[in-house]
Amino acid sequence: MENMFKTIEGMRDYILDLQRNMTRIPAISPDAGGKGEYQKAAYLEAELKKFKFDEIIRIEAPHKEAEGGVRPNLIAKYYGENKNKTLWLLAHIDVVPEGDRAMWKTDPFELTLDADGDTMYGRGVEDNQQAVVAALLAARAVMESGKRPPVNLGIMLLADEETGNKYGIEYVVEKRGDLFGKDDAFIVQDSGDPEGKSIEVAEKTVYWLKFTTQGKQAHASRPGDGNNAFVAGSALALALRKALYAKFDKKDNLFDPALSTFEPTKKEANVPNVNTIPATDVFYLDSRILPSYDVKDIDAEIAKVVKTIEDEYKVKVSIETINKQSSIATPADAELVKRYSEAVQKVNGVKAGIIGIGGGTFAAPVRNLGLAAVVGSRIYENPHTPNEKASIKFTLCDAKVITYILMNLK
Ligand SMILES: [Zn+2]
Repeated sequence: MENMFKTIEGMRDYILDLQRNMTRIPAISPDAGGKGEYQKAAYLEAELKKFKFDEIIRIEAPHKEAEGGVRPNLIAKYYGENKNKTLWLLAHIDVVPEGDRAMWKTDPFELTLDADGDTMYGRGVEDNQQAVVAALLAARAVMESGKRPPVNLGIMLLADEETGNKYGIEYVVEKRGDLFGKDDAFIVQDSGDPEGKSIEVAEKTVYWLKFTTQGKQAHASRPGDGNNAFVAGSALALALRKALYAKFDKKDNLFDPALSTFEPTKKEANVPNVNTIPATDVFYLDSRILPSYDVKDIDAEIAKVVKTIEDEYKVKVSIETINKQSSIATPADAELVKRYSEAVQKVNGVKAGIIGIGGGTFAAPVRNLGLAAVVGSRIYENPHTPNEKASIKFTLCDAKVITYILMNLK
């Protein structure tokens, strides 16, 4: 292990090389105004071919609007002594747009190394290029050691994380479920903290609903002639919030916050002028539900509240599901979580903290196959911001953590 760690420490220039080349190719989803991952994947595929991987597979999800007409996903596998089990490292290669250029101190698509010799700036350096780099570093260290790992090492470089995973991990799981064995384990280095201590094993169910309340339009001076949908919608938002927090009040300290949350968020515009009673009101509810609750029970409570408001205000309310995503939690005593905790202690010198989060990582599709998946990394936590930065030192730590886990899995 110590020799492999030394090999990793010697790869500083390789980190810069990879980060520089990737940052120059903005892989932005067509859904966010870009061309997709075609060129970045071509660069990375060529890079993977320089390694001693036993298999390199390209899985292309058709997408007309993207360059090449596809969203490419790359999979590389290096066999272990036990070929029936794989430790998968998941990273996404798409990035979000740079946002307001004026907020950037450097060119977002040209890597800049800070005078401290450690901090790198550029769009994507943290989210999620650091994970791509850490995975390649670990692969190189293991290959250069001349030893085969106890289990297979699998690296997945995926498209489309930033705009919903449809052409990325979800496509791979749907089309190539045969790639995964029942004992496989997954590490997703796409969230974390500067100490590198948190290990995320569970997610709340993400549940987004759109509520449309229908009343009747009238002149504001004669409210009796109409039926104010905004008033009824407001009453509904408050009633939902009150009822849901009261009824679904279980606590689970794995999560922060420990409670389920039910928050009215987005509000669509109604009438453009002040003197009209609006006939339609639209708002959205963002719920993050503890995995121990059944969403059907939430739906039943919502239906009850809606009925009360409809009766009281003589309006019609329709409900549309915008997003619903739940995943099976990874047990805190899973082998992967134990090895990960040891690695964090050894490499980052801190005690691991096992946590749950508010939901929405791309570990969910593999967790739903019933496979163990953890999310964690050592990062500044500044994804999507102007002047996005990543640390060479942190990258070395992440590479060591995954190397330790890989070499100690059974
Ligand atoms: Zn990300």
